[in-house]
Amino acid sequence: MNLHPFQAAAVAGVRELARGGAKRILLQSPTGTGKTRMGLEFAVGAVRQGGQVLWLAHRRELVAQAAGAIMRAGVADIGVSLAGASTGSTDAAVQVGSIQTLFARGQRPDARVVVWDEAHHCTATTYREVASAYPDAWHIGLTATPERSDHSPLGDVFQAIVVAISSPDAVRRGCLVPVRVYAPATSTDALSEDPLAAWTAHAEGRQTVAFCSSVSGAAELARRFVAAGVPAASIDGTTPLAERTATLAAFAARELRVLCNCQVLTEGWDCPGAQVCILARGCGSAALFLQMVGRVLRPADGKGDAVLIDLRGVVHQHGMPHDERSFNLEGEGIALVSKAGDPIRQCPSCAAVFRAASAGLERECPICGAALPAPAPPRATVERRPLAEIHATASREEKRRAYDRFREQARARGYSQGWAAYRFKGVFGHFPDFSRSEVA
Ligand SMILES: [Zn+2]
Repeated sequence: MNLHPFQAAAVAGVRELARGGAKRILLQSPTGTGKTRMGLEFAVGAVRQGGQVLWLAHRRELVAQAAGAIMRAGVADIGVSLAGASTGSTDAAVQVGSIQTLFARGQRPDARVVVWDEAHHCTATTYREVASAYPDAWHIGLTATPERSDHSPLGDVFQAIVVAISSPDAVRRGCLVPVRVYAPATSTDALSEDPLAAWTAHAEGRQTVAFCSSVSGAAELARRFVAAGVPAASIDGTTPLAERTATLAAFAARELRVLCNCQVLTEGWDCPGAQVCILARGCGSAALFLQMVGRVLRPADGKGDAVLIDLRGVVHQHGMPHDERSFNLEGEGIALVSKAGDPIRQCPSCAAVFRAASAGLERECPICGAALPAPAPPRATVERRPLAEIHATASREEKRRAYDRFREQARARGYSQGWAAYRFKGVFGHFPDFSRSEVA
């Protein structure tokens, strides 16, 4: 089990801080870049020296994944504390469990090292409870997004943070895939396009996870995909465990093309084959945004890139997925490294958004190659009306010309004419209603 050089450097960085006296260290690395793998180094290292380890996670999937990874790393003596699925001894070399289960049972297994998976969920109260039981242990937190949902500082738990690798660096080294982003030109209050139409236009046929703003919205979107002939399903917090497992397995096996949900697949679900993320919702939290998009950024065979279909323009609020960010323990723990000279721009031809200067392509779209208009001068007034409102005022003649354009695009790309109709509906809110004599 070889570590990637950046992982080895991060592990060494954590150990160096520990030698300097730090007992509670947070390790940050983007989703998909091997946080568990790095955490294993500390766990296995402690076991080899005869110590015991407590590995804490807050979701069933994460407990099971961690136990499997520890076993594959060569540790056989593992105890699992999970409601309804506990195995092994509570005196095992490594105890993996959910904090809720351990504490509900009053268990405090011995530990020299405590690993906190998804450490941004560690509240001050939980931490105090665990810390009082393990005052001398070495605490390692793992997270991609060191920001709590209530923005209270993680500095009340951790003394230091080690950043393993930046997201753009991870792409350059092939540890994450690049992502094409389609979004409205500014952030919007309503969906800028119909999700089905946008998917058909930008990502048809690719394995997709869609995040909706409600459970009923997720179910409805799945029904619409199915009605359009695309195998799709939705899951939510009430989906029985067996059905949820079967649905995730069907998606991993590519029997399902689209998986819709509201808030259950944001963390702890690992499917490298997922290629497309639809955000059919807004998102006030940078951490949640990065967790959702992170589901599709892992590399996989035959996956050259990922696609983000951001229907509310969340990127205008939180930045592009692979923008450079800095991390701290002070509350709003995720900060975008300034991109003042390189605003997010939208291609007038394919609707992709990008930072043109970083791509070295200020004159043409890095996705479709279309010529870009000259960048707007700084402080220019920005058109903030949502796309749908703009198009609501389009004349019949403008709509007919747009339909001609979509049909031309469909022919050029080898798509069916139905694609043009869906593309039209996504923009104008209804299917085209032209007679044969009206269309070219
Ligand atoms: Zn373009």
